[in-house]
Amino acid sequence: MKLKWGATTDVGMVRQQNEDAFLAEENLYVVADGMGGHNAGEVASELAVTTVKAGARNGIFTTDQFRDIVQQANTAIYTASLDDSTQSGMGTTLTAVAVVPGEEPRILIANVGDSRTYLYRQGALTRLSVDHSYVQELVNEGIITPEEARVHPRRNIVTRAMGIERYVAVDVFSHLVRTGDRLILCSDGLVDEVSDADISAVLSQHTDPQDTAEALVMVANANGGRDNTTVVVVNVLDDISEPVELPESDPTSEMTAVPSAPPAVPLRKKKRYVGAVLFWSVLTAIVLSGVTIIGVYARSGYFIGFDNTDNVAVYRGRPGGVLWFQPTIDTQTELSGDELPEDILRDVAMNLTFTSSSQAQKYLSLVKIAIIDATSTTSTSTTVAK
Ligand code: MG
Repeated sequence: MKLKWGATTDVGMVRQQNEDAFLAEENLYVVADGMGGHNAGEVASELAVTTVKAGARNGIFTTDQFRDIVQQANTAIYTASLDDSTQSGMGTTLTAVAVVPGEEPRILIANVGDSRTYLYRQGALTRLSVDHSYVQELVNEGIITPEEARVHPRRNIVTRAMGIERYVAVDVFSHLVRTGDRLILCSDGLVDEVSDADISAVLSQHTDPQDTAEALVMVANANGGRDNTTVVVVNVLDDISEPVELPESDPTSEMTAVPSAPPAVPLRKKKRYVGAVLFWSVLTAIVLSGVTIIGVYARSGYFIGFDNTDNVAVYRGRPGGVLWFQPTIDTQTELSGDELPEDILRDVAMNLTFTSSSQAQKYLSLVKIAIIDATSTTSTSTTVAK
């Protein structure tokens, strides 16, 4: 597979430092978006890139191998953060594309956090990675649309990042690519400022990968450039024969003769009728008891979350609801999302659950004390708000 790539990173229009890092070389492309004070974000994103590069030096062949390499990078960042107190709590997102050696034009995409890998094919832009972010969870639950997620006040809360904990869950996706395909890896600085439709429009106007990457960053900066922006563009050039999707089933199964069904035995009408009544009675009983069980389950818990006005509320039910049982507000508070410390913000954003209403109340009264007494509070959270 023959590839041509281009890449660029930019500090943006507002920030003083660029905490993004990237790698673009034959068969390996990485974008990492670091976070943490005292330059720690830069350390984390750079460590992610260099560790993945080192792990991939002999090629990446399987999803498990790619996952292990990203996990090694996680360990490297986590260990470094323990060794140096100024780097405590540092982390980074990572999106990486490895081209798998072999006859098949296959790529693997590893992802942790909210940097993205897109595929641009025949004028259509699709996301190959799935964000680990609070707003993505709201999108998954159907509460907001992807376009609303892009401008949501909590869009920068990531629910997974590298280096925060000893182990991280790494998503790895496998895709076949074709001639003419274009891959775009980017940090959230691009997607927060430029809609997918506008990214698509820029891609349609530029062919050269370096020109495209630079044009995308220029648009992000023109729209505000409130974050660092990094873009890697990879064009698939070679004339690759159309990929053949292998069937899921065992191909030898075609050799096995399918046994013919036994001839139907006609039943007498009365027996059929009794059978039908019995069948529907049992089915109705099963469905009704199922509905009751689901109803009891759906209303059994309590959790905290943000209401429509961004205030904290205690809800009765299950986050996101169960079937047609939607959670209802149990207790409304005056606590606003803006005044919450980061660890509490994460608890609320992630809908921390409780077994009773009084347990949730107790938690919130502690939160109020924590806010009042903020100076003497030491945070030990693993919150990742960028
Ligand atoms: Mg960013």
